[in-house]
Amino acid sequence: MNIITFTVNIDYRAQVTNRIMGLDNKTDVFSLEQNYFHGKEYTTYGVVMGSGSKQVLLSAGIHGDEPAGIYTLLDFIEGPISDYSGSCRFLIFPCLNPYGFENNTRHNIFGVDLNRSFTDKRSALSLRLEVFVRGWEGYMAAINLHEDNTDFPTGNYATNPRGFYVYETSMNCVRLGQDIIKALQPEYKICTNPAIYDEKNVGGVIDTRSVDGEFEQFLENHAQIILTPETPTCWPLETRIEAHMTGLKTALDKLI
Ligand SMILES: [Zn+2]
Repeated sequence: MNIITFTVNIDYRAQVTNRIMGLDNKTDVFSLEQNYFHGKEYTTYGVVMGSGSKQVLLSAGIHGDEPAGIYTLLDFIEGPISDYSGSCRFLIFPCLNPYGFENNTRHNIFGVDLNRSFTDKRSALSLRLEVFVRGWEGYMAAINLHEDNTDFPTGNYATNPRGFYVYETSMNCVRLGQDIIKALQPEYKICTNPAIYDEKNVGGVIDTRSVDGEFEQFLENHAQIILTPETPTCWPLETRIEAHMTGLKTALDKLI
């Protein structure tokens, strides 16, 4: 697929909503948040799937200009999830920032970087998500898919990473990051810079804790293992989706 043509024709309803509504194996689909802008509706959906005892939260698209994670989760829930739905109960948010996705922007409809201001109590989305997630105490894992935009370096950094890597926070000593990296090699380039955004990187894994306000901080309050895989946008979209899917399945294979 031609990426340039693709990015100027993003349509949330056609590319995300319709796929969620077309699922035939869902337990439940619910609206987490609904916003309107210039007459267009942007609804953030949650999907419940699976009947197992291990609770897993999957999310993508909190930064709207990072589409590979969104397509990965949509592909996952349309097929591969059946390998895990007997062992796991999934709470899935395929696109946490519909407006950002359709307009190819990191920020949400109010110009907010949701990932950085998530625990700010003024965020309606965070309050609603808190209510849903609270009903599901004891998540085994939360996996939220991200991308590094390689066209626009972050802050004062000269370049953003141009390989795959994963942030990992573990509350129970179970470590999955290096398994994910092993599964991706040698097919996918791993970012092995000694540091990424000033955090120590060990062969593609950053052992980290969130900073105040981040979505990960919210997740750390609910899940034992938090994984945030990152793909670089300089790769073709299909390659980024494949890498995210490989990482996701590798983590789940280790959990079940
Ligand atoms: Zn991101």
